Amino acid sequence: MTETIFSKIISREIPADIVYEDNLCLAFRDVNPQAPVHVLVIPKEAIAKLSDAEPQNHALMGHLLLTVKRVAEQLELKNGYRVVINCGDDGGQTVNHLHLHILGGRSLSWPPG
Ligand code: AMP
Repeated sequence: MTETIFSKIISREIPADIVYEDNLCLAFRDVNPQAPVHVLVIPKEAIAKLSDAEPQNHALMGHLLLTVKRVAEQLELKNGYRVVINCGDDGGQTVNHLHLHILGGRSLSWPPG
């Protein structure tokens, strides 16, 4: 997979406001927040998009979701939050490194545009 802005955040080539890290993933604040709390959870493994995930990534996928829960608790999103994965062009994905958006801190409307 080609290098992306997120792989550069993992390698600390560019800075980010990191809120959580472990051996499998990283969570940092989105540079262009769409809600009072907007955090991205990314795997350290270079998976470009959700549709590229393989059965061998099963445990990692579960870990990413449980990390969302952990970060949401850490950031005290007690009233709820939204988790978004944009996949590919029609999904609006702009960075080709799998990422889960956590959006919270306000009431969110539905459906998205
Ligand atoms: P997506 O449109 O789902 O691919 O989301 C990519 C997200 O990455 C957008 O919400 C951007 O604001 C965010 N983003 C891009 N560059 C950075 C960066 N250097 N640090 C933090 N967030 C970023």
